[in-house]
Formats: sequence, structure tokens, C-alpha cells
Amino acid sequence: MKIVEMQILPVAFPDPPLRNSTGCHEPFALRTLVRLKTDDGFVGWGETYGGIGPQEGLEATRHLVEGADPFGLENLRRLIPEPRTYSPIEVACLDIMGQALGQPVYNLLGGKLRDPVEFAAYLFYHFDCPQYGECLTPEAMVVQAKRLVRDHGFHALKLKGGVLPPDAEIETLRLMAAEFGPDFRLRHDPNAIWSVETSIRVTNALEGTLEYMEDPTWGLDGMAAVHAAVRTPLSTNMCLVAFDHFPEGIRLQSVDVVLSDHHFWGGLRATQEMARICETWGLGVSMHSNSHLGVSLAAMLHSAASTRHLTYACDTHYVWLEEDILAGGKLPFVDGHMAVPTGPGLGISVDEDAVARMNEAYGKCGLTTRGDAEYMKKYIPDWQPLRPRW
Ligand SMILES: [Mg+2]
Repeated sequence: MKIVEMQILPVAFPDPPLRNSTGCHEPFALRTLVRLKTDDGFVGWGETYGGIGPQEGLEATRHLVEGADPFGLENLRRLIPEPRTYSPIEVACLDIMGQALGQPVYNLLGGKLRDPVEFAAYLFYHFDCPQYGECLTPEAMVVQAKRLVRDHGFHALKLKGGVLPPDAEIETLRLMAAEFGPDFRLRHDPNAIWSVETSIRVTNALEGTLEYMEDPTWGLDGMAAVHAAVRTPLSTNMCLVAFDHFPEGIRLQSVDVVLSDHHFWGGLRATQEMARICETWGLGVSMHSNSHLGVSLAAMLHSAASTRHLTYACDTHYVWLEEDILAGGKLPFVDGHMAVPTGPGLGISVDEDAVARMNEAYGKCGLTTRGDAEYMKKYIPDWQPLRPRW
């Protein structure tokens, strides 16, 4: 079997004004879809980050992918060592392999160990928007959490923090803990916007409230200094994000939990490899998310189903997505979980008309890279990207 065509499809879709430590989501989120076609007519899909950089990275691999055997993943990984570029190509090849064999992707990865997969609600402070109003106070965040729990049944709640002053975020989590009680697992992710001192103060103020504190401060050294002064587990998708970060991160004891993400660890097979390293060194594994569409979601589900050492509910931005590219619309959460697709390959059917609409929207929206800090100036004109801010 041979790949005869690689299409690289930049897409844009509406995104609410969700806040994080660096700024605010722009009106459109960007992604890049990869559509591979084989000489015997199979079509496989992959998805990765949006914008001009990822597009150019993929374009540079076209001569390696077109003509390649989709079953030859290890050769493709050798030829395309950049994990973010290789990842969507691997996912599309696995989609093709599964269709050709009549098997779901999880069976190509060793079979599924869990189904359905548990997800955490992803809670964001946000500016005013037609769909959700405004959420910029501890009390409003409790209302948002209750809505997501009511609508989707989540039992793990992740607060995207680093937005309000630290004491207001402590108050937010205390209100949530009081509202939901001990059966709910809470996590806090201020995206490395605090100093070591602030990180220690906030983490200790919330001791007993959180299942983990994610990236309170910057870097393996900073995280190690926090780690030495707190009892709450620390997690990361910012300071230990590649295989060659493991030796230093383990030596320094910077974190207790590493967030997997097949987009930047280099595919679904690499995710299993990183989880095995975590298991060996006694580290937990959760899963990170960016704004994404259904192709990435399906890949995350197959990854979560077949990665043995996955010890926490996964993150996903999917609840904030208005329209998906899957035929039949968005996949549903049931009791905070999502069923793993069981059809051949990724087990999804992509609506190519929806892809074409989002591809056209990409051309019209005027964005070619993510710019949360610049967009923030629409709301706060003198906004400065500071680290640490507190
Ligand atoms: Mg994070």
C-alpha cells in the first residue's frame, strides 16, 4: 500500500473569549487537518496545531509522506523526527491501517484497557459572549461548573487559572469544593504565571482540596523548588514535555504527574512510550488538551483506551466547541465519560463539507497564528505578558 496524496487543510472555527495566564482566546481557533489517501482508495485523517508554522512543517514532509507505506510508521518517524509534525501523519496512517484491516486504532495499539474514557470539565474564566455571558468571579465560576456537571456529568473539574489574583482563585476552588464535596476531584492550572513563593503559598492554602496543581511556576528548577515545599502532587504539560526532559525532571523531582498529549509527544505510540517511562519512575499520567476538533478527539480516545498507565481523567476543550467536522455532529459525554469509537480506523466519519467551510473560514478570519496576548489588548489595552505576574 502506498500513500498517493497528502492534503494539508488549515481550518478555523469559532471560539469563545476564554482567558488564561497569557491572554484571551481569539474569536477563531486554528487547527490543521491532514488527509492522506492511498493507492487503493483509503482515506486517513490526522489533526494538529493551527497556523502557518504547523502548515509549513507538514508541507516540508510531503516528499517523505507521498509514496510511503502507511504501515511503515517507524520509518516515517525516523524521517520526520519533529514530534508535532509527525503526530498527525501517524494518526492518519493508523486510521488507514485500521480501515484496511477492519480494526479500530486501539487494536493496532495493543487493544483497549478502558472504555469509556473519563474526562475532566475544563473551566475557564471568560469575557462576555453571547453563548455564556461573562465569568470573571469565583461565584460565576461555580455557576459554570454546575452547568458543565449538569450537562455532561463530569466528576473531575479543572480550573484554568492564572487569570484572577491568586487569592480570588483560592476562593474559587474553596467555593467549588464546598459546592461539590469530596466526591469531585479538583485541579488548578495557572500556566506557570506565579513565582515560586506564590506557588508554594497558593498550593499549601489549597492542600487537601486538589488532586494536583498543574504548572504553578516556570521550569524544571522552579517546579522542583515548589515540589520540595508542598504535599499536593504537581503536574505539568509545560516543563516536562519531551523525552529528553525526563532525566533532569526525574533527577530534580520537579513533578509527580506528566500530562500526555499525542500532538507534542509524537503520536499515539510515543504516548504509550512516555506513559511507560512515567510508570517506571513512579509518575502519574494525565492528558493535556488544546482547542481541537473531532479527529484529535478520536485519536485521544484511542490513545487513552490503549495506554495502560493513564492514572487521571483526561482534559479536553471539547465542551467549548460549537460545531464539529464529524458527520452526525459532536460526540456526547455520558456521566463525564466518552465512548471509544469502535469502527475501523479512528472509527469516525469526517464531514468534508464542514471541513471545506472551516477551511474557507481560515482564509477569511485573517489569523495565521495564535495570539492570545495581543488579543487581550482588546479588553485591557495596556495588557503586558508578564512571567511571573504574581
Ligand atoms: Mg496545563
